[in-house]
Formats: sequence, C-alpha cells, structure tokens
Amino acid sequence: MKHVICKCGWVSFALTKQEAETEIQRFNTWFDNQPYKTREMYGNRRSSLSEYLCLRCGKGDFKPASQEEIAKIWGCTINPVVYEEVVE
Ligand SMILES: [Zn+2]
Repeated sequence: MKHVICKCGWVSFALTKQEAETEIQRFNTWFDNQPYKTREMYGNRRSSLSEYLCLRCGKGDFKPASQEEIAKIWGCTINPVVYEEVVE
C-alpha cells in the first residue's frame, strides 16, 4: 500500500484512478441494489471520484509520504485518494 501526504499534512493511501473507479463501480452496483434504509445509512449517495480527495481539506494536492510521516499516523484510520505518480 502506498501512502501520500497532502499539502495540509494529512496522510492518505493512494489508489490509481483506475483502482478508484473499479471500487466506485463495485460500490455503486451494490448500493443500487440495497433497500432504502441501507442507502440512507450511506448518506443516500452513490460513490464518485470526488470522494477520493483529502479527508481534511477536501483537495487533492499529494506527494509520496516519507517513512517518518507515515510513522506519525500509524494506527489511524486513513482514507483512499487518487494519486498517480508522473513517470518521467
Ligand atoms: Zn489536505
């Protein structure tokens, strides 16, 4: 699992856009087949790419996180975000 850190200092774990889209599709297919009560528990909202952003600031300005940065958040719940490294 790859970790990235946002400009605001929040660490998340990185998925590629394709991985996120696969997850979204899987969730939405499941979601669409749920009774109203269950959908309500999930905020009555289908998943989308806009949810794969920094949980703290809502933006998506990431760089790979260093070992120290990861160590600081060890044991916390972290959310997935889309981050694709530019291969030069
Ligand atoms: Zn942030």
